Amino acid sequence: MRRASVFGATGSIGCNTVELIAASPEEWDVVALTGGHNVALLAEQARRLHAELAVTAHAECLADLREALAGSGIEAAAGQAALLEAAERQADWIMSAIVGAAGLAPGLKALEQGSTLALANKESLVAAGPLLMRTARQAGATVLPVDSEHSAVFQALVGEDLEQVERIVITASGGAFRDWSLERLAAATPEEAACHPNWDMGQRITIDSASLFNKALEVIETREYFGVAPESIEVLVHPESLVHALVGFVDGGLMAHLGPPDMRHAIGYAMHWPERRALPVERLDLARVGSLTFRAPDEVRWPALRLAREVMAAGALSGAAFNAAKEAALDAFLERRIGFAEMAEVVEEVLARLDGETALCADVTLEHVMEVDHLARQRADEAVRERRT
Ligand code: NAD
Ligand code: MG
Repeated sequence: MRRASVFGATGSIGCNTVELIAASPEEWDVVALTGGHNVALLAEQARRLHAELAVTAHAECLADLREALAGSGIEAAAGQAALLEAAERQADWIMSAIVGAAGLAPGLKALEQGSTLALANKESLVAAGPLLMRTARQAGATVLPVDSEHSAVFQALVGEDLEQVERIVITASGGAFRDWSLERLAAATPEEAACHPNWDMGQRITIDSASLFNKALEVIETREYFGVAPESIEVLVHPESLVHALVGFVDGGLMAHLGPPDMRHAIGYAMHWPERRALPVERLDLARVGSLTFRAPDEVRWPALRLAREVMAAGALSGAAFNAAKEAALDAFLERRIGFAEMAEVVEEVLARLDGETALCADVTLEHVMEVDHLARQRADEAVRERRT
């Protein structure tokens, strides 16, 4: 039996992970499950998987969680310290599926104990990639990509030499507003942005898909996972979301990874790596699909992609600033304090304002990342307020 924990168990990735674990209970000994406000679901998952411990991120939800777990023998805990303690409980395999920079500290704790970290939480890699990878190396831990594009690249690289990779192409569906004009984008609402044409995901990543901030994070994520030069990472708009990524080699060969838009493939691959197992995902019928289409992304409508390149060029802690500014701008959009297209403007303003701050040049330690994260959220808030006056 392998000991497993799932951070962010009640989210979209978390629920899929719980479902896959539940499908082979004889293989998994579940240690900890964590969630947020939805304690009824968290308790149900913990009972279903016979977890040792359930943790809600919110102290005010502890009483409800305790009540929902009454008589089960499952421990209940709440708050940041409890999340970190859960990440320190020995486990062989840990899913990191909290959304946002909040996933960084638990992910680091999981790596420090030498576990295999299945990393869906791309924000932690964007904010602190060198720190995560260094921690993994020092502890002998393994980081496995769970984002569909990065799982695809990882699979295309099996048996290959990274030295012979010429380029990595990740695809983007284009999200909810793929064909919208700039004028229409300016008036787009959170409800419209939260409808993805192909993938069923959490609200935040769905809106990030519409703004292409998700793809911008993924470009940086590609660099952190595979260590390739920024200029060798390309983004291709592919409305069908069936080809997830392509790896181009020095001899001109291009390896593509295809699959249905179903995260259970990438999650299942990370659960069983280096083996492959039968997974409950639809099999692609390409004759029925008929054709696959591709086009270059329009960086005028989607400035997030240009910003990602600037962030990679700046290096050091600019990834932490970028991610935090993006999270704050998304909050402001959800609160209807700024419009859809203003998110990228706010992020660009924050990056420009922080450019002079020496903090941005510091080493990528947890303390520095948290400091820059905090600073960037403050600057984003200022930028949002200035727009409204
Ligand atoms: P979600 O919003 O559906 O779920 C997020 C989970 O994190 C929930 O369990 C929630 O309770 C928990 N959470 C939220 N804020 C928290 C905090 N401050 N502290 C502790 N826990 C907190 O999100 P999701 O779509 O499942 O995405 C999870 C992660 O996986 C994100 O980093 C996302 O970018 C990445 N990802 C998701 C998909 C997808 O298909 N959903 C695909 C690729 C990558
Ligand atoms: Mg992705």
